[in-house]
Amino acid sequence: MSDKYVIVSAPSGSGKTTIIHALIAKGLPLAFSVSATSRQPRINEINGEDYYFLSLKEFKNKIANNEFVEYEEVYPGVYYGTLKNELEKIKSEGKVPIFDVDVKGGMRLKNIFCDNALSLFIKPPSIEDLEKRLRNRNTEDEEILKKRLKRANYELSMEPHFDYVIINDDLNRAIEEAYKIIKDFLDKN
Ligand code: ADP
Ligand code: 5GP
Repeated sequence: MSDKYVIVSAPSGSGKTTIIHALIAKGLPLAFSVSATSRQPRINEINGEDYYFLSLKEFKNKIANNEFVEYEEVYPGVYYGTLKNELEKIKSEGKVPIFDVDVKGGMRLKNIFCDNALSLFIKPPSIEDLEKRLRNRNTEDEEILKKRLKRANYELSMEPHFDYVIINDDLNRAIEEAYKIIKDFLDKN
């Protein structure tokens, strides 16, 4: 179990953060891999729990020091990345890291960890639903929201590169489906 990884990717607003937290709460031996980001924290986000919030300069210093397993400029000027020492911490606790990453990061992690990694793509029922969810979440201003929607079509086209696609229409059903797929993967030798 100790050398397994679970990757969850999707366009912003598809529901991956909600699903990941529900899976951890259901008792799977997963630990959320806290990424670093150069974006501003949202209200209610906690440094070290949701993200490690860094200035752009700090983020770039960590790139230069080779501290990331992977990183992406997900939106222009906004960086996100998985820190090597975060994975070491989770491994030392005997848990399986679960990543909430964009599609490029998801494909990169799958290339690094190969069969040791399970990659899930969370798909919204439609682009209209995705927009509704992002608007209801009410965490981004209009300009940032437009950037996220603009990127969504590209991200949706990357679905074939993932091991499983889960349609997040009914949230509880999507959580159950993800739970079963991950449990089977963790139970395998
Ligand atoms: P992501 O992490 O992919 O950006 P979130 O988990 O933040 O997405 O979900 C985006 C918004 O959509 C949140 O407000 C969440 O409560 C809501 N949401 C998630 N799944 C569903 C669903 N199946 N039906 C309706 N709303 C949902
Ligand atoms: P948000 O700003 O909504 O928290 O995240 C925006 C996007 O960045 C999401 O698609 C999220 O999955 C992605 N993301 C978060 N952390 C990482 C990371 O460490 N690496 C990569 N490549 N993407 C990330």
